[in-house]
Amino acid sequence: MARYIGPVCRLCRASGQKLYLKGNRCFSDKCALERRNTKPGMHGASSSKMTEYAVQLREKQKVKNIYGLLEKQFYKYYEEADKKEGITGELLLSLLEQRLDNIIFRLGVAKSRSQARQIVRHKHVKVNGKIVNIPSFRVKEGDVISVSEKSKDITIIKEAVETAKVPSWLDFNAEKLEGKLVQLPKRDAIDYEINEQLIVEFYSR
Ligand code: SF4
Repeated sequence: MARYIGPVCRLCRASGQKLYLKGNRCFSDKCALERRNTKPGMHGASSSKMTEYAVQLREKQKVKNIYGLLEKQFYKYYEEADKKEGITGELLLSLLEQRLDNIIFRLGVAKSRSQARQIVRHKHVKVNGKIVNIPSFRVKEGDVISVSEKSKDITIIKEAVETAKVPSWLDFNAEKLEGKLVQLPKRDAIDYEINEQLIVEFYSR
């Protein structure tokens, strides 16, 4: 599956907000946004009022980049959320959170979603006892996610777990490297500064 492979700190600078795409570095003083909080490009330092469209676009780009998706993949989630009963923006975020790479990141088995994606692709992860190597795999309530036996000593996994902060909608046993999606995340459990309504407005134009 195609993905963005350019410099990720640039994406944070374009959003004007930390998107936590680089693991440890994001929490250190090496964070590019801590050093220079200007937009990328020649006119990055100049400030001009953004149009409504630009604000909506920026929010959509931001969320797309947080979850490491390309436009086509992201739009598919939006379409699915739009067809469901309920608040489209919240449903969109819930669907994104259910991706297996996101769950691995949220469980603290990886320090970033891109690292989580690698871990999944390299067949280190099981869902309900079976290896799943598809980062977009949708985890459902009650599913058990574990690190396969042969992968438990991998350094990046061990290091990540040491500093894991697991959200309340997941359960995690750090000794067994096994977690469970207890209940689908509610909006207030998704701890990013996101205005999902702007994304809905963007696609509804
Ligand atoms: Fe964003 Fe992390 Fe880069 Fe900081 S270090 S700009 S939070 S990706």
